[in-house]
Amino acid sequence: ERVTIERAARQPAVTKNGIPVAVSINVAGVEELEKLDPEICDGIGLVRTELLFADKDAQPTEDFQYGVYRRMLGWAAGRPVIVRTLDAGGDKPIAGLTIDGERNPFLGVRGVRLSLVRPEPFRIQLRALARAAVHGNLKVMVPMVTIPAELEAVRLMFHEEANSLRQAGIAAKVPSLGMMIEVPAAAIAPEIFNADFFSIGSNDLTQYVTAAGRDNEAVGELADPLNPGVLRLIESVVRYGESAGIGTSLCGDAAADPRVLPKLLACGLRSISVGIASIGRVKAAIAKIDLSA
Ligand code: PEP
Ligand code: MG
Repeated sequence: ERVTIERAARQPAVTKNGIPVAVSINVAGVEELEKLDPEICDGIGLVRTELLFADKDAQPTEDFQYGVYRRMLGWAAGRPVIVRTLDAGGDKPIAGLTIDGERNPFLGVRGVRLSLVRPEPFRIQLRALARAAVHGNLKVMVPMVTIPAELEAVRLMFHEEANSLRQAGIAAKVPSLGMMIEVPAAAIAPEIFNADFFSIGSNDLTQYVTAAGRDNEAVGELADPLNPGVLRLIESVVRYGESAGIGTSLCGDAAADPRVLPKLLACGLRSISVGIASIGRVKAAIAKIDLSA
């Protein structure tokens, strides 16, 4: 079993009936990549950047972040690296940054909502990303997008920061800009967004669709990505992405769940991103899935 999994990790993932599936990895820091061979994946599908901001007395500078993003791009050697902008709030509070005392933080100022009300640290992150984008296949995605104006605000800020860097003689460009699909409103009407790509966040999408908190054991059984309501939404996002030529992936825990993965592929999904520890097991599981059955 272990040998099969290790061998699977070194090969591209293909279903039993010959359909290729892109399998990328989720990371939270560049240290995780040390000693890891980039050949095992199709890129980095999600960089959670919250960890960089975890120390409230030492917020990451533009240069520090630029260094981290560049190292990730260097490791990936041309494969796509999708960095998610800061997703603080909700289950990821950051002292000094997120808003204290919200009665319902999961429905409050989290993700891009926080970035737009606290633009100073956000603009630093965008500058670091605009500089890193020159050095590899960088893509950037925005968490918790609910309405098109949020993504457009980020796009505008990105252009402003890249322009000001270039005016100062520093190489910079605005990378491909996508969004997480994790708010039901976005999953129901993805066509209203001007996104370069979609990444379905099944953790949050499941909790919001089932009204069952991801942090609450007592309702854990309800927060089930196999709920037909959740799967139907995922399928319709994937179909829309296909019809509009917008690449769609999924980076939530559901992708590494052996009960859910076959259903996700049956929904038409052909790109997923999973934790490093799951990659061999997930690829071996894909090889056993027959989508023609
Ligand atoms: C998700 O919501 O599914 C996701 C990938 O992001 P996070 O778990 O960091 O909220
Ligand atoms: Mg999320």
